[in-house]
Amino acid sequence: MDTKAFENYESEVRSYSRKFPVVFAKAKGSYLYDEDGNKYLDFFDGAGAENYGHNNPEIKEKLIEYLNDDGIIHGLDLYTKPKRDFIDYFEKEVLIPRGLSYKIMFTGPTGANAVESALKLARKVKHRQEIWALMGAFHGMTLGALSLTTDRNPRASAGVSLDHVTHIPAPYMFDMDTISYMEKLLTDDHSGVEKPAALIIETIQAEGGVYVMDETWLQRVRKFCDQYDILLIVDDIQVGCARSGKFFSFERAHIVPDILVLSKSIGGYGMPFALTLMKPELDIWKPGEHNGTFRGNQLAIVAAKAGLEFMISHHIEEEVERKSKIVEQFLQDEILPIHPKIKVRGIGLIWGIDFGEFSDSVISSIVHEAFYRNLVIETAGRFDSVLKIMPPLTISDEDLKMGLSIIKEAILEVIK
Ligand code: PLP
Repeated sequence: MDTKAFENYESEVRSYSRKFPVVFAKAKGSYLYDEDGNKYLDFFDGAGAENYGHNNPEIKEKLIEYLNDDGIIHGLDLYTKPKRDFIDYFEKEVLIPRGLSYKIMFTGPTGANAVESALKLARKVKHRQEIWALMGAFHGMTLGALSLTTDRNPRASAGVSLDHVTHIPAPYMFDMDTISYMEKLLTDDHSGVEKPAALIIETIQAEGGVYVMDETWLQRVRKFCDQYDILLIVDDIQVGCARSGKFFSFERAHIVPDILVLSKSIGGYGMPFALTLMKPELDIWKPGEHNGTFRGNQLAIVAAKAGLEFMISHHIEEEVERKSKIVEQFLQDEILPIHPKIKVRGIGLIWGIDFGEFSDSVISSIVHEAFYRNLVIETAGRFDSVLKIMPPLTISDEDLKMGLSIIKEAILEVIK
């Protein structure tokens, strides 16, 4: 396959293409196709942007209908019909049934932009500069989001200091009570740490290495924030949209964040779309205080509504819970016995196989072997040591089992 154009002219910043160096041309359901027609099972899922499957026919139909009708495409934040339909549907079918009440902010279409808006808003509401985030967090690459993100490599590229964030040890890192630790930071007049406007968390650290925060911890975090007048921001950009088995990942803990950021699969069809939801009393924005040209991509809004309709009518949450058991069983029965140093963890349809106790080359060899067997799968976590299983939520049982078997073969090939 001819990859010269990329190698000669595309910036060295490219990354995924180095692991999967073919030229992709098509995608359907759980499969990607290269330009020679080779088929790859997709356990990467566009980094979580394709929860309802590539080129989902039900969503596509609505997009084509909208295009054929010459529907407005670029809408800034004008009132448009697709946006009204989306808001009505989101309110009626997603928020109200879950007892949630939020104002909806249409930010620029990347996850990082939604995160930036959440940080600005929290600081504005509380008149405090500091934000707390967890070690192991990933919240994006723009300066504000990057100040929260902990991966040393992208942080080093900032070129300026990444200020006003304190990183709290994640609960899985040490044998200590992180909530008491945070309380101590606030109550000890010699802690040297200022009270934050907000604490931002992922309920499942995905890029951090697939760490699922337990429900009790999440509930204690909610209480802690209430007690000390700190806003709780949940970043559901990667693990929202039913990835965890519930549409919002925090539902399992019965907590309600003050601010919530969504992107990736909220765009329904892999369309660029992001939202920041805030409790109504927090909506103190002045007109235009956080704007952007591509907040109103109407095709993305049409796809977003169609994606929600698909999610509800096909009972995707229940399906994820069912398929999760297939993955868990396979990991327990087929992967853990391969080597005592392998660890597994996950929830819904996001699972990690941790090779942290092996040498660095092991995991890259496994990814390579999997790709050789036509499976696209990515890594996450410290030193990229966790294989992240993240197929489209619509994957068939047969394909799911096949992908898992390929992973087993790839591991066996590397760890003999
Ligand atoms: N937050 C989380 C949890 C993410 O996983 C990501 C991207 O992977 C982001 C934020 C940033 O989203 P984007 O890459 O669209 O800016």
